Amino acid sequence: MFPSCGERFLQSIADMTTPIDTESPTALHSSAPGDLSPEEFERQARVLARWIADYLANPERYPVLSRLGPGEFARSLPVAMPAQAESLDTIIGDLDRVIMPGVTHWNHPSFFAYFANTASVPGILAELVIAALNQVGILWRASPALSELEVVTTAWLRDAMGLPANWFGMITDTASVSTLQALAAARERDPALEIRHRGMAGRTDLPRLRVYCSEHAHSSIDKAVITLGLGAENVVRVPADGQFRMRIDALTAAVAADRAAGFRPLAVVATIGTTSTTSVDPVPAIADLCEREGIWLHVDAAYGGVLAMVPEHRVHFAGAERADSFVVNPHKWLFLPMDCSVFWTKHPAVLKRTFSLTPAYLETGEQDVALSQSDYSFQLGRRFRALKLWFVLRAFGLEGLVERLRAHCSLAVTLKGWITAEPGWEVVAPVPMSVVCFRHRPGGIVDEAVLQRHNTAILDWVNASGKAFLSHTKLGDRYVLRVAIGNLRTQEAHVAQAWMLLREAAALADASP
Ligand SMILES: *Cc1c(COP(=O)(O)O)cnc(C)c1O
Repeated sequence: MFPSCGERFLQSIADMTTPIDTESPTALHSSAPGDLSPEEFERQARVLARWIADYLANPERYPVLSRLGPGEFARSLPVAMPAQAESLDTIIGDLDRVIMPGVTHWNHPSFFAYFANTASVPGILAELVIAALNQVGILWRASPALSELEVVTTAWLRDAMGLPANWFGMITDTASVSTLQALAAARERDPALEIRHRGMAGRTDLPRLRVYCSEHAHSSIDKAVITLGLGAENVVRVPADGQFRMRIDALTAAVAADRAAGFRPLAVVATIGTTSTTSVDPVPAIADLCEREGIWLHVDAAYGGVLAMVPEHRVHFAGAERADSFVVNPHKWLFLPMDCSVFWTKHPAVLKRTFSLTPAYLETGEQDVALSQSDYSFQLGRRFRALKLWFVLRAFGLEGLVERLRAHCSLAVTLKGWITAEPGWEVVAPVPMSVVCFRHRPGGIVDEAVLQRHNTAILDWVNASGKAFLSHTKLGDRYVLRVAIGNLRTQEAHVAQAWMLLREAAALADASP
């Protein structure tokens, strides 16, 4: 009796799923082809888990800022790759000796420079799974979980931040790329410009396309403009007011002057939480202008955006719901390991028109019913970043995240109070979020060059101590120090220690002209 066609088909499937019996190697230098065995994975994963737990238990044993000079790290390495396979025991054993000296400890609770970026335990664990599953999100069927979890988690975050329910969200690696996407979409919004097909070079029929942002906006805006070929000189840096917020009168005047000159205002980038001082641009007034003028409004809230989850801080986000696009980086102040930037737009169709391009070998017939993020972004393949967002949002919960953000803001207020109360020190900007800008100005010195030299010396001394890492910024011609609080493990004692170090340094540093 021959099996029926259906039975034969089922049998062939069963044959295919029978595991192939091969001997798996336990070490790559055993000369057997293929990977290390799952048993070896488990053994080494335990070793690494112990190593990581030990690191997380006490990052304070390391100087926050790496002590190596330029080139020193590379010189400690061989000039060529090994010819023979090395064991993982050797490689993992070299982490402490070779790698750690060149590490600046973003996970250190006294990391106060730039903006914090903490790898939380749920985030670290998720990264392990991301690597293991190795999803390559080139289109929906290449990983339905990746595509749909990205939609779901960005919607969770959007709703937790009180942003409009009709916004389309996706994940990119950095705010720089999110902003690049925003400006690319802004340029595509008016199909009459025909830039996607014809480009911009060699055309006399195109007006100059202008992008506006405050003088305190992030350099990623200039880089996006440069990359898109709009020309760096078409970024209009609008002056800010005494509290470092974009001046709406100056913006209005700049747009009017550009119109009069025959230029085309393309986009305004408003910042909620600027990099220097976390100032907040007047988004409602900017949105009025953008609506009136048909200009794309992109909100850059890379650092501060997550604060929209905290009810008493939502006031900073007034008008944000009127944006055409919005970026926030969970990898900054939401305790996800680098890299995870969330980008939303209310115009997914424009984004798709900007980036959709399906080569024949990726055509599936599913395009109309299944969402592929590659249709909405420059890159084709994408990592399973949504998984770490899913881990972190669930592991902390909205209340847990809100509680931590609140604690950081209140530490910043505490530090501001200490600085204000100390003679010879001044806080130089409002503290709406968790960053304090200040400087030492003993005896009412007014010479900015002297003050810069003096405060640079203070900063260098504190950073060289290895006990805290701070950065500086320039506000107009004033050189100021900056403490950004946002590390998951930072406690009041760490902030107090930094403040003690600063005062010690100020006492040692020369303030004479
Ligand atoms: C950090 C930051 C950026 C750049 O972020 P990347 O993710 O490193 O590109 C842009 N804008 C603001 C306001 C930021 O704080």
